[in-house]
Amino acid sequence: MADQNLRIGFVGIGNMGNPMAGNLIKAGWNVTVYDTDARKMRAFIETRGGASASSLAELGGKSDVVITMLPDGFVVRRAVLGKESGDDCLVKGLAEGAAIIDMSSSAPVGTRQLGKDLLAYGISLIDAPVSGGVKGAVAGTMSIMIGGGPALADRFDALFSAMGKRFYVGSLGAGHAAKVLNNYVSAAGLAAAAEAVRVAERFGIEPQVLVNVINASTGRNNSTENKFAQFILNGKFNSGFALGLMTKDLSLAMEVAEACNVPAELGRATLALWKKAENAVGGTADHTEIARYVNEQG
Ligand code: NAD
Repeated sequence: MADQNLRIGFVGIGNMGNPMAGNLIKAGWNVTVYDTDARKMRAFIETRGGASASSLAELGGKSDVVITMLPDGFVVRRAVLGKESGDDCLVKGLAEGAAIIDMSSSAPVGTRQLGKDLLAYGISLIDAPVSGGVKGAVAGTMSIMIGGGPALADRFDALFSAMGKRFYVGSLGAGHAAKVLNNYVSAAGLAAAAEAVRVAERFGIEPQVLVNVINASTGRNNSTENKFAQFILNGKFNSGFALGLMTKDLSLAMEVAEACNVPAELGRATLALWKKAENAVGGTADHTEIARYVNEQG
């Protein structure tokens, strides 16, 4: 039975965090949000309800469990522990026995270290990164990849179910590893399709015609089905997932591969291509701009 009195703190109400925290409120949970961007907090309260805190420490003091949905593991670590003694951070407010759920796409090895460091405060950590994009976050249909102690994961099952489908993948950090490996496959699929469309166009085949053929054939993937017509061929490039975040996930996937002694040759070539695209178009551009970058080469 879900404990609806649980006080939930939510840090990072950006493209993903906003609809995720919104779905928790819709499901009847008591949510307080914090974001370094005060405008986002005001807009959140106006449109979704809930409460806001004016610092991480204040949010920690008002929460039994805090969800982080931040750009990467370095930002998460800093928000949780601070970097220097005067820094505002969650552990300054959280009580012993509280928990943190990191739903960002963070580095798996860093997550394990953060879990160890939090033991000294009596605070537990679970990783629960997501897939499904802004569309899945809004609909509450994301895949949630959970790593950490099973009893702890179970304690927050009702929270997860308000945001998507749960997959328990293993010990602390396993969720983050699964997530970046998923994004490696996704990034490779998008880049491969972008190259195929470019070649087809040069050969005299309309891009949409090739995408239609692939979608009815064995080459289809999430990008050919859900990105080309929707964000790329119409020139919108507005999926809501930044190119720099995809490159970060690919780098993390290759770090995991290296730690596991897997050469991952295709992964390294894919990462090199995404890095070149990031240098050319900038990390804040939408990740679907990789197709425009590929199109403009040669
Ligand atoms: P975003 O940039 O839209 O949101 C991040 C939010 O964190 C921003 O509102 C920012 O102001 C806030 N923030 C940054 N530093 C902060 C701090 N120290 N304290 C409080 N708030 C802070 O990013 P996003 O697209 O929502 O992605 C968040 C995470 O989810 C990333 O790890 C990303 O890789 C992952 N992710 C994104 C998508 C997607 O489609 N956008 C899909 C799956 C996973």
